Amino acid sequence: MKYPIKGSCQCGQVSYELLEPPQMVVACHCRECQKLSTSAFSITAMVDAKSVVFSGEMAHWQRPAESGNVSAAKFCPGCGNRIYHYNPDQPDQIKLKPSNLSDTRLIQPVAHAWVSEKQDWFEIPAGVKVFDKQP
Ligand SMILES: [Zn+2]
Ligand SMILES: [Zn+2]
Repeated sequence: MKYPIKGSCQCGQVSYELLEPPQMVVACHCRECQKLSTSAFSITAMVDAKSVVFSGEMAHWQRPAESGNVSAAKFCPGCGNRIYHYNPDQPDQIKLKPSNLSDTRLIQPVAHAWVSEKQDWFEIPAGVKVFDKQP
């Protein structure tokens, strides 16, 4: 894969460039991620904040996470597409929502979290790490 990889929300108001490969790609099956993704799970690419360059105004929302941390979210105010999550106490680490990337081949989770809340019909692929809750 060639970097940088461009990404944008559905309406195009928010765009970004990912400069280097993510540290890790994780699928999360918690109920919050099911709501977020309108699907069975969401996928997150853990990246260093310095390796993504964003452009366009984003809206903000946050909620308490089970860990006691804050889960903060940035999204496009035009189309509502979620762009990334982060912990305000660790702003150097970004949890990018990678389905917005133009090249989606990197979206291969190596770990699945919150499988205690996963949909019964989804079978965890062989060879990935599995966590009952948050790793
Ligand atoms: Zn948008
Ligand atoms: Zn989740």
